[in-house]
Amino acid sequence: MKEIEILVIGGGPAGLSAAAAAADLGASVLLLERDDKPGGQLVKQTHKFFGSKKQYAGDRGYQIGDFLIEQCENNPKVEVWTETTVLGIYEDGVVTAEGQGKHLKINPEKIIVATGASERMITFPNNDLPGIYGAGAVQTLMNVHGIVPGQRVLMIGAGNIGLIVSYQLMQAGVEIAGIIEASPTIGGYLVHASKIRRAGVPILTSHTIIEAYGKDSVEGAIICKLDDKWQPIPGSKQDLKVDVICLAVGLSPLTELCFQADCQMKYVPELSGHVPIRNKYLETTRLGLYVAGDVSGVEEASSAMVEGRLAGICAASSLGHGNDVTPKLQAEALAELSELRAGPAGQKTVKGIMKLMNKGGAAC
Ligand SMILES: Cc1cc2nc3c(=O)[nH]c(=O)nc-3n(C[C@H](O)[C@H](O)[C@H](O)COP(=O)(O)OP(=O)(O)OC[C@H]3O[C@@H](n4cnc5c(N)ncnc54)[C@H](O)[C@@H]3O)c2cc1C
Repeated sequence: MKEIEILVIGGGPAGLSAAAAAADLGASVLLLERDDKPGGQLVKQTHKFFGSKKQYAGDRGYQIGDFLIEQCENNPKVEVWTETTVLGIYEDGVVTAEGQGKHLKINPEKIIVATGASERMITFPNNDLPGIYGAGAVQTLMNVHGIVPGQRVLMIGAGNIGLIVSYQLMQAGVEIAGIIEASPTIGGYLVHASKIRRAGVPILTSHTIIEAYGKDSVEGAIICKLDDKWQPIPGSKQDLKVDVICLAVGLSPLTELCFQADCQMKYVPELSGHVPIRNKYLETTRLGLYVAGDVSGVEEASSAMVEGRLAGICAASSLGHGNDVTPKLQAEALAELSELRAGPAGQKTVKGIMKLMNKGGAAC
């Protein structure tokens, strides 16, 4: 059994920031990551990030990931085990994991869950044909393994992920037959949408997929226009010949470990699904278990890093580390989160957090 002060589950921007912050205050940290390299979503993000300079805006996602990994590697108080998947968090506090073919047991004093989110799917006939991918899978294929998924793609979803992955497909020489979006407006940043439209790709709002077809793999898709009650408009069907259908229809927090650890959970649409109830210092109703990043509500890497830092500081401080500086560090992190959430996109998160905390006033 491995004894450790703080166990961080997940090595994305939230987990890496949590590990570095806790170790900087003197806590011993073990970070477990199921992939062969930490970095989470950042490893496949080749575009320059938006937002505030404090959260590395202007740098490419994978560069931010490398910087966060380096911070942990340079800190002797952080141990990172890759290819290690956490399987369970038990009543007695023991955490089990599978790592490189071995069953492992860890007995941490505090736990930070930073497992991120998983891609959503939608139902339509033949949605199990080869050639139908989640947008994250397409990004991994192209930007991590250098493989294009096909020749001609229908993208479903015009949020930031759908727009960014469409643009990256175009950069890789893949044709985009169109981007369809069920809602009447484009959800992603208009700067991304304009770039794509200028290249001649139609973005069809109020449109959905009716079915995919093909013998052994995708050969095409039937799409149609929706009325203002989201019902198909008769006579509006179009047949698009494509060999890939890419779904960018949102993410859900990956909260199985929180459910299993018996954290009190609540369904909050603004936070993208079931999330653990926690206080403003990110400690859940299972005392000593903190959450940070997309697992606590799908947002962005920028807020995931600040939440990770806050959870790391709070977990370390609860063990008596750095108590002279933690009030200042906590206040700074909370102020950064408020700043990040001050814009229109952040307001959804603020509303979600207020619902989660049953508050009518200001959330952290
Ligand atoms: C296409 C795309 C573009 C984006 N662009 C931007 C942008 O421009 N700016 C921005 O701020 N954000 C952007 N984001 C969002 C950002 O990437 C995420 O919000 C951020 O990565 C969330 O960080 P996280 O650490 O919570 O989760 P993740 O990055 O998902 O990391 C979670 C980690 O946990 C690991 N894990 C999960 N379960 C286990 C387990 N049981 N055991 C061990 N390890 C586990 C996973 O393998 C993963 O490495 C984008 C996302 C996408 C998909």
